[in-house]
Amino acid sequence: MTPRRSLAMRGLYEAWAFISSTIELILSSSCVICGARGALATPICEGCQSSFTLIEAHCCKVCGRPFGNESVVAHSEGFLCGECRSKKHRWYFDHAFSTFIYDEKMRAAILAFKYKKRFSIGDVLGGLWAPLLSRHIADLEDSDERSRPDLVLPVPLHRKRLRSREFNQAAILARFSGIALGRPVAYDVLARIRDTEYQSRLSPVQKIKNVKGAFKVTEPKVIEDLNVLLIDDIFTTGATVNECAKMMKKAGAASVIVATLARPTHAQVGEAIGGKAMALGADEWA
Ligand SMILES: [Zn+2]
Ligand SMILES: [Zn+2]
Repeated sequence: MTPRRSLAMRGLYEAWAFISSTIELILSSSCVICGARGALATPICEGCQSSFTLIEAHCCKVCGRPFGNESVVAHSEGFLCGECRSKKHRWYFDHAFSTFIYDEKMRAAILAFKYKKRFSIGDVLGGLWAPLLSRHIADLEDSDERSRPDLVLPVPLHRKRLRSREFNQAAILARFSGIALGRPVAYDVLARIRDTEYQSRLSPVQKIKNVKGAFKVTEPKVIEDLNVLLIDDIFTTGATVNECAKMMKKAGAASVIVATLARPTHAQVGEAIGGKAMALGADEWA
């Protein structure tokens, strides 16, 4: 896609997002999480916004998994979690981090955002997230220059799913991230070329197979030798973002940092795999 066409598409997209958010606010005035009614200027009331749980524990320096407690941190060589130390996974990204715990409130917000087409929820979540993400990136930059992103990319949806959902939640979050970091966002450089099955129905091994070969870097020159920040809404097993990172590294990206809005706790992922999860919403367990 030419830069001019890409700019025109972005202009159209932003105008459409603004109109949808405005109509939606007029039509609905109750909080999507607690149901509080009133003359809300936002789909998530202030009480619910301030009750989202930040991931404040020390995390694995590669996959971003929060450590259970401080004594685990003290015994974790190189600040790596057990899985990363055992090389159970081959991660293609350099570092992954999430900002909020994927608890009941965050889940309610994300499900309403993705499946009820509530654009304005994306604005609230993106607005809350972007400054925190920016701060995390600044901390990373202090220790490693490769963490300074040159370009922001969202995890793409397949065009069939994009048609039914009408928007890509990761693209909305990437837009906020790009603005906060003062970096350009490339919406079309990474494409999902295969319409994959919903990840929630699959075991961890099946998840990896399901996304294998599902992504393509359409314009490798755009990311060559650059530090890329890859954005998605949720990190669970990491299979989706890892496959994207693999393709970007193959295409010549110098580094790939993965930033996600939320992450379930390790116990939640275990329960989901064991089939005892809270009712999960389609593909969020990526
Ligand atoms: Zn509320
Ligand atoms: Zn790890």
